[in-house]
Amino acid sequence: MDRTVVARLTRFFTQLISETSGLALEDTLALAEAAPQLADDSELAGCIREFHALLGRFRLNAAPIESLLEHPVSLALGEFFRAFPLPFRDEHIHLSGSLDADFVYPRLAPLLEDATVAAKIKQIYGPDTVIRNANDVAPLIRIGENDRFDRYLKILYLPKLTLTSREAHRDAAYHMASRLYRTANVGSLRLKFTLFRETTDPTEQVPITTPEDVLLGLYEGFRSFQREMPAFHFILSPSFRKEPGFYDATRYRSKRESFDDQVRQLIELLARHPELRDVVTELDTVGNERGFYRKAHFQEMRVGIRKLQAYGFRTRSHHGETWDTLRHGIQAVDNAMNIWRVDAIEHGLSLGINPNYYFHSMLQRVLRANRRGEAVNPRSSEFAELMDMDTSGREAIREKLMNGVPLSAEEAILATKTKFHHATEVETYQHDVLNRMIDKRLTLVSLPSSNKRLTGQLADYADHPFSWWEKKGLRLGVGTDNDITLSTSFLREMLILLYTDPLELKITKLLIVTTGESRRGYLSHLLWGMRKSLQVS
Ligand SMILES: [Zn+2]
Repeated sequence: MDRTVVARLTRFFTQLISETSGLALEDTLALAEAAPQLADDSELAGCIREFHALLGRFRLNAAPIESLLEHPVSLALGEFFRAFPLPFRDEHIHLSGSLDADFVYPRLAPLLEDATVAAKIKQIYGPDTVIRNANDVAPLIRIGENDRFDRYLKILYLPKLTLTSREAHRDAAYHMASRLYRTANVGSLRLKFTLFRETTDPTEQVPITTPEDVLLGLYEGFRSFQREMPAFHFILSPSFRKEPGFYDATRYRSKRESFDDQVRQLIELLARHPELRDVVTELDTVGNERGFYRKAHFQEMRVGIRKLQAYGFRTRSHHGETWDTLRHGIQAVDNAMNIWRVDAIEHGLSLGINPNYYFHSMLQRVLRANRRGEAVNPRSSEFAELMDMDTSGREAIREKLMNGVPLSAEEAILATKTKFHHATEVETYQHDVLNRMIDKRLTLVSLPSSNKRLTGQLADYADHPFSWWEKKGLRLGVGTDNDITLSTSFLREMLILLYTDPLELKITKLLIVTTGESRRGYLSHLLWGMRKSLQVS
């Protein structure tokens, strides 16, 4: 592609955005098309018209987001964000999914001699897996087009293998901070990482190092980058697996006992290394949350979380990311708020799915299959959702749907009524939980690529609820989750958000959320500064 086109577009959009104080994308493009200076540059004018048309098709689900993201106008907007004078805050990034192949390969190479490791690699990545260089590693640590959450947890095996010492954690932190700052203008990180790895689940067992090495290594790595770039800011957010089975059953009698012991160790570590206290200020909980939504599920970790809260820890939690039924996905957030008293919900997608749309499109799929006499797969989400609906008096209809016995027209209407009432109930519940989050000033962190690619719950990027949440007045944050695993970047996530609501999401609003700087006058001043520096160069 012609680099000068991107450079000219970058200059053009920087001027326009500064002159219009960061309007929504659709308005920006309309004004761009009408700009008198483009009368002399038909190439740029054509390029902008082409992008505008493509954006229109994307909104009608007729063009994939990749076609937008690869377009010169996207590259120019990405350049504009990269050059923005304030760095961005990646509010949610995991250590193991954000180490690139250049970091992983040299540390992995000596381990490949080990027969157990080699066998394990073949088991996870396939019998034909060969690792000779960084290029071989690169595709293994990225998820494929149709991979989902379970696969994502598995492929983190390679980077995890390399994180076995204090030095490895130090190098990893430095490498990551410097890469993100250089490539994506990220100057602040909230790092999620595993502090305690021990578990009896064989697929999760990797060589481990002590929690002390992990914490001190990460701290030293980020501090050394901070010496080069004093504005760099980081928070270390140890993440605890919440699945009931995720603990070392040979050492502890219960999850509760195991977590309480981890909390005790963490508090002792902070007492021994008071320098960590400024940056180890919160915990997060992670893991597969299908089957984790009921009050009882939250009890095992409740006391430990309270103890950390008493030591000043804030609590964040991965919730509403995946679910067996949408109602449970909302309930998980509800209980995290009530029982764990979380300050932030990470992902929270269950609060952004429109229940009426979700259940109706599900019913359409079920009815279509029913006409063909197909049964509902007992392991599908359709099955779980049908079982969650109040069918009192209409069980016979549900039985027919489950078993693929075609419904009569009247029965299909009754099934639709059941769905309708269920959707309304779930919608009311969802809005209650959302309003409570707004009242309590909880933060909700959006991770667009992760939400789209790992959960399979969004039909398209255009359905991401970020802008809807923004309009409702929710406190928001943005994260990449795992920029390497997901082949994305913070700048790419910003563009995706902009494209999900080109009519109403203002560029300035996006800058406010992603930089944390809300003084509009100051932001305008910075935009004008970018314009001036372009004229100088
Ligand atoms: Zn995450």
